[in-house]
Amino acid sequence: MKVIFHERFYEVYTADPAAAAGRMEAIVAALGKDFEFKTPLAASDKDLGLIHTPRHIESVKRDKEVYEVAVLSAGGAIQASDLAWEGEPAFGLIRPPGHHASPDSCWGFCYFNNISVAVQRLMKQGKVNKALILDFDLHFGDGTENSFFGNSSVDYFHPEGSSGQEFVRTIQRHLDRGSKFDILAVSAGFDRHVEDWGGLLETQDYREIGSLVKIYSQKICQGRRFGVLEGGYNHEVLGHNVRAFIEGMA
Ligand SMILES: [Zn+2]
Repeated sequence: MKVIFHERFYEVYTADPAAAAGRMEAIVAALGKDFEFKTPLAASDKDLGLIHTPRHIESVKRDKEVYEVAVLSAGGAIQASDLAWEGEPAFGLIRPPGHHASPDSCWGFCYFNNISVAVQRLMKQGKVNKALILDFDLHFGDGTENSFFGNSSVDYFHPEGSSGQEFVRTIQRHLDRGSKFDILAVSAGFDRHVEDWGGLLETQDYREIGSLVKIYSQKICQGRRFGVLEGGYNHEVLGHNVRAFIEGMA
């Protein structure tokens, strides 16, 4: 299990909670020395253009610092997806998040749709024909849905549930339907935790979701799996939740 991280993700590039001071530090501290870290390259305009319009890319460029960190974030998702394709599970410990970024617009602390760029790139390269994107963030990834609107090659799944166990079972049922995919990509948002905005999932639930991702990717797509960070705002618990998910997935 490789963790993709860049020092620039520590930067407080804007004033939203995803960019808050101490957020990445909390996760890095919780992961400790137990995972190998790799540094991503910035995504190119060509990579971003697989999902986004030139107009949108130009509009993000107007804020130099946001743009510079956002292209590293998209590059982190790309690197995680490349490792996954080669058979090494990976987690993009990246920010800004991406699932509210649509082809021509963005909101909700997002700028470029990191996971969509990464998945679309593997498709463009002819490696992936079908992808499953599991998004367990509290919020629906409208940007990811819009990125693949009308594209039956990508199954975007955003589970709901009224208890932690029901939520995990909903994911299991979806994975158990027997549909085929070549890669399992996870938009991993941790804002549904009991001590975060959503107030539903325990840390142990993230570990269970991680192991479902592992088991079903091994069953269906030779273990090709990667995750990228989306939301999660309580720094007291965020690192432990990320760690639990990664340990489950490893
Ligand atoms: Zn969220």
